[in-house]
Amino acid sequence: MIRVNEHYLKLKASYLFSDVARRVADYAKEHPEKEITSLGIGDVTRALPQVCIRAFHTAIDEMGNDATFRGYGPEQGYPFLRETIARHDFQARNADISADEIFISDGAKCDTGNIQELFANDIVIAVPDPVYPVYVDTNVMAGRTGSFANGRYQGLVYLECTEKNGFVPALPSARADLIYLCFPNNPTGATATRQQLTSWVEYARKEKSLILFDAAYAAFIRDPAIPQSIFEIDGAREAAIEFRSFSKTAGFTGTRCAFTVVPKTCMVYGRDGSKHALNGLWNRRHTTKFNGVSYPVQRAAEACYNGDGPRQLRELTNYYMANADLIRKAMISLGYSCTGGLNAPYLWVNTRTDSWEFFDFLLRNAGVVCTPGAGFGRCGEGYIRLTAFNMKENVEKSLARIAKALA
Ligand SMILES: *Cc1c(COP(=O)(O)O)cnc(C)c1O
Repeated sequence: MIRVNEHYLKLKASYLFSDVARRVADYAKEHPEKEITSLGIGDVTRALPQVCIRAFHTAIDEMGNDATFRGYGPEQGYPFLRETIARHDFQARNADISADEIFISDGAKCDTGNIQELFANDIVIAVPDPVYPVYVDTNVMAGRTGSFANGRYQGLVYLECTEKNGFVPALPSARADLIYLCFPNNPTGATATRQQLTSWVEYARKEKSLILFDAAYAAFIRDPAIPQSIFEIDGAREAAIEFRSFSKTAGFTGTRCAFTVVPKTCMVYGRDGSKHALNGLWNRRHTTKFNGVSYPVQRAAEACYNGDGPRQLRELTNYYMANADLIRKAMISLGYSCTGGLNAPYLWVNTRTDSWEFFDFLLRNAGVVCTPGAGFGRCGEGYIRLTAFNMKENVEKSLARIAKALA
């Protein structure tokens, strides 16, 4: 008899986006005449930068010629891309990261999920609340939690992100071995200062813990004082792994390219206290279970850094950040306090009421879809997430209708 992994049965069905979709569909059916727009989209809407398209075309032509054709590439990624990333994203920002510490992959979602198989099953895991659900669910699947009760999994340490702490969690009072941090944050749009990141790195070093730092939104940081990488913090090479992605930075959500940075100085420990380099373990995992990102995609990713690439990427993220600015100003002028939108494409709005109630109100009175904060965790209750990923016309239209509905 083929038996199921019982841990999968603990998973709470992801009600959030299906609930949103169902409520929107019901409303559309009742009111076919009403136009509905969305500030709830977590996906980019603008086309790939021209530099990427050109690199793609060139690489495809190479694949069509015996002399330049490429089969399996290195599982870790082509040196041309790993070296370019190390130089531009890290060394140029005084972060000491080398090409052999960068592992190219097909997504930060997969990487954040896959990395946890390197760790023991009885470690203590800390996750933010509200949270990107992947961090939690992958650990549930692996059997590192108890069952789901009162909106939380037993056995996890929840790091509460509230208005009081500026949505940057305090250090845990109990020991945590593995700590998930995401800045700029999805869903709150909050960022962490150098000082705040430093205190996390110091904590992790003291406890011999590991920080999993998700920097998928680093390209949206506009304030030069905010670190873009955890490796801009002294000592982070001993205490952190970083996840990056071209998804939001360069519109690669459908193209798929990301990378994970595993410094050679990051250690994990055996029961007997023996030390093992995470870089080697991840390399082993990656080369065994992954066969590399396609060559044209890696060329398209490389193009982001060269020639007109940086300018075109900046134009792309500026477009969304201009939307974020419109949303932020509109919500503040309507009397709502909100976080994010300054160095992140997300805004976290305090609705002063139940988040699903506010969702229904916006849908029924403004024809605008948002994401109820409660779907991201207990601390998300009383908030909604608005995203800047949309065309400007849709954002303006949505905001005008929100203003009318809330007036
Ligand atoms: C979008 C997003 C990612 C990127 O995922 P990909 O798999 O690279 O598309 C990673 N982390 C967070 C928090 C995200 O919102």
